Amino acid sequence: MNVLLIGSGGREHALAWKLAQSPTLDTLFAAPGNPGIARHATLVALDAADHGAVAAFCREQAIGLVVIGPEAPLVDGLADTLRMAGVPVFGPSAAAARLEGSKGFTKDLCARAGIPTAGYIRVTDRDTAVAALGGTFGLPVVIKADGLAAGKGVTVAMTRDEALAAIDALFAEPGGEAVIEEFLTGEEASLFVLTDGTHLAPFGSAQDHKRVGEGDTGPNTGGMGAYSPARVLTPALEAQAIDTIVRPTVEALRADGMPFVGVLYAGLMLTPQGPKLIEYNARFGDPETQVLMLRFQGDLVALMLAAAEGRLAGEAAPVFSADCALTVVMAAQGYPGEPKKGGAIAGIEAAEADGAVVFQAGTATGAEGGLVAAGGRVLAVTAAGPSVAAAQAAAYRAVDRIVMPEGFCRRDIGWREIAREQG
Ligand code: ATP
Repeated sequence: MNVLLIGSGGREHALAWKLAQSPTLDTLFAAPGNPGIARHATLVALDAADHGAVAAFCREQAIGLVVIGPEAPLVDGLADTLRMAGVPVFGPSAAAARLEGSKGFTKDLCARAGIPTAGYIRVTDRDTAVAALGGTFGLPVVIKADGLAAGKGVTVAMTRDEALAAIDALFAEPGGEAVIEEFLTGEEASLFVLTDGTHLAPFGSAQDHKRVGEGDTGPNTGGMGAYSPARVLTPALEAQAIDTIVRPTVEALRADGMPFVGVLYAGLMLTPQGPKLIEYNARFGDPETQVLMLRFQGDLVALMLAAAEGRLAGEAAPVFSADCALTVVMAAQGYPGEPKKGGAIAGIEAAEADGAVVFQAGTATGAEGGLVAAGGRVLAVTAAGPSVAAAQAAAYRAVDRIVMPEGFCRRDIGWREIAREQG
């Protein structure tokens, strides 16, 4: 079977690495891909926004499965066009991708289906938003832009002034839409569940580090590292989250005529009252995919195709290695602000000599043929071990073999879990 993977980040490199191991695969294509993905796939210069061109490519190359990595083409309806053209797709329709694309849509669905989540109101004007601050919600309070904002649309306001500033920013332009939410306390964990619109296949858990600085301080990023499994999400809590959050979501979407096909990535808060939904993503996480793929033991092409074709009920449950996996993101100086581009990268082979895998995100081939940084997050250095501490030690051994003078990474990925392991 020929497979087309859409995307160019570290998440897609991890997917390509695993897809390429599938006995079901003939040729893997990736659009647009990156130099790391090129180790496993034939790169094609397709624009994911040109749905007609992607469908034509699928026809020409007899593509039997398209895997859509990032959220933007999903929200933009690429999966709809391909399905109409008869191509099996792992990834939801535009309607179902609103679970990620509109926070208000998801909160309303939760309210209708009785799914545990933070109390909220949807607002479309500044005055209603300000009034909600005084009335319904105390402090801290959470203010979120309704649409996709690449992780930058959320303010956890500790004071009324911070909340007012966030509201002013959201309603500075006409047409603003926001959700104001009750602040939840607890530890966060990510749960991944594949679905064909009806059946569920739990696909592991992870925890990530969003802040740029050690000790989880400083500005938010796309993610500076992650590890899997998230042991705080015990088997009992995972079952509870599936029963009270994920399954009712899949059922509500199907009942509304928009079955969700792909991976549901539930961002959970493990509160004293049990797991509550913080947000849904309609695709895999980055860098969580890097650790999930290192642990996943099955045939990814077969599993994704079964989801795309509504056959998940006939598939064996996904199996993961008992090992822990941990990934350390190496970023370009300046990230999460303007990253410095063009910095040289060497030592990937040496880093991989002991079994670590170096997934590439923002990389490019430089003028002299060597690998250079071309984005904020550049590499995800990923390793496994019998504990998170062992996986961390292996990952940093590999990191130390990489020569990236204009890069940096956090040295404490996994610290909370390692403290628990050692406690
Ligand atoms: P990302 O895509 O980066 O995960 P996002 O913009 O989709 O972020 P959310 O995941 O909804 O936004 O929120 C980002 C972070 O803000 C969460 O990971 C969590 O730490 C915090 N947060 C969001 N909602 C709440 C809440 N109700 N109570 C407490 N913290 C919250």
